[in-house]
Amino acid sequence: MTTTVRRIGACTEPATVLIEGRSQIDGGLAYGRLEVQVHACDGHARTARAEWIFPPLTAFTAIAEPVAGRRCGDAVDAG
Ligand SMILES: [Zn+2]
Repeated sequence: MTTTVRRIGACTEPATVLIEGRSQIDGGLAYGRLEVQVHACDGHARTARAEWIFPPLTAFTAIAEPVAGRRCGDAVDAG
């Protein structure tokens, strides 16, 4: 499986949070298929959820996922 990292924004702080963009199921907020993962620093965590993940995807904050080695704005498309 190949993963392509693209960049969002100009911030290069070390990432502290991982935001997942997931498909909706039946238009609700169920935990759907993972489409994209976006890394963000503390300062951009809110922006990442609100603006870097956009409809029809729903943003979830992934608590347990490792973010070491990633920078704020690193986005990885799934599949
Ligand atoms: Zn940042």
